Amino acid sequence: MTAADRYVTDLDHEEVLLRRGRRSGLLTIVAVHSTARGRALGGGRLWRYDDNRLALRDALRLSRAMTWKSAVADLPLGGGKGVVVLDATPLTPARRRDALLDFAETVDAFDGRYVTAEDVGTSARDMATIASATPHVTGLSRRRGGSGDPSPWTALGVLAAMRESAERALGSADLAGRRVAVIGLGHVGLPLARLLAKEGASLVVADINRSRRADAEALGARWVSPRTAMRAAVDIVAPCALGGVLDHETVPALRAPIVCGAANNQLADDGIAELLAEHGVLWAPDFVANAGGIVNIGVELRPEGYDPRVARERVRAIGDTVRRVYDDAADRGTTPLDAAMALARARVAAG
Ligand code: NAD
Repeated sequence: MTAADRYVTDLDHEEVLLRRGRRSGLLTIVAVHSTARGRALGGGRLWRYDDNRLALRDALRLSRAMTWKSAVADLPLGGGKGVVVLDATPLTPARRRDALLDFAETVDAFDGRYVTAEDVGTSARDMATIASATPHVTGLSRRRGGSGDPSPWTALGVLAAMRESAERALGSADLAGRRVAVIGLGHVGLPLARLLAKEGASLVVADINRSRRADAEALGARWVSPRTAMRAAVDIVAPCALGGVLDHETVPALRAPIVCGAANNQLADDGIAELLAEHGVLWAPDFVANAGGIVNIGVELRPEGYDPRVARERVRAIGDTVRRVYDDAADRGTTPLDAAMALARARVAAG
């Protein structure tokens, strides 16, 4: 059985809708994993896949992950995900608009049980197009009354998770003078590096895009290759690029006692959580540490509307969640991943 087949076999979702868009002819998918805690929130991505089963698998897998992420952050939200499956025909601006309007119809069919947001391949501008056809959309620009780009909030949440991790593994939450390797200087990595520089941390940074080097130098950071950054003799490694970076090869080579970053799905497989513990590395579960963006969107979805002060307070509280996860893991003699999943499952079960 392939991984794509397994996701379909293990289906534990509330609702999945696949519709062929009448304007674009493209397949649109919305998967709602759970609304036990509230409306299912999750990004809508425009992506090309080798086969439709992989697109469906992405929607199923990512919507489930959103359920756990929102539950562990204690948000009154469930988990969902949207996908527009691109084909070989070029996506002209007119066809893009058609695809987004087709997707908006699929979103609207859920009558608010699913709320979409920006994701891979979509922007705040795309959300505005979707908003012309359905009210069930977030992540609009501040100008349009939304909460804007979630990335700086994700960075702020990772910083809070780092402080808590430093307290646990190094005895102090103060990041001044700590050495941190930030891998990936994108929408989250760069604001995170800026926050860390402000805290007085000493930075090693890496990105496959060499044009980021100027940003690194402006922060007084040392520019190295991504491989060197992973193995650097630092206090914290912060993966802020792709997933799957922690595996049987990279974990034994780590010299940092803490891994805490924004990248989704950092572990090549769940067993790596134990390998990290065996090597004495404290790992902040990614879906706990990187919840700042969704916490910010949660503030936008309140009946009272968006307030950046409330967002700041709630994003900083990610540090409290990380502390609780580490405490639970220590009490039960388990890994932070197991403790975070147990907390998420208990919250979903409680509804
Ligand atoms: P981004 O595309 O803006 O930035 C990623 C950066 O990583 C780019 O600069 C890219 O050149 C670099 N990169 C890619 N492959 C690399 C490699 N092998 N080594 C080093 N650098 C590499 O993405 P982002 O929005 O900053 O998100 C970064 C990660 O955080 C992703 O895994 C994303 O899923 C996750 N995340 C982001 C948010 C958010 O609010 N943007 C929220 C939660 C999780």
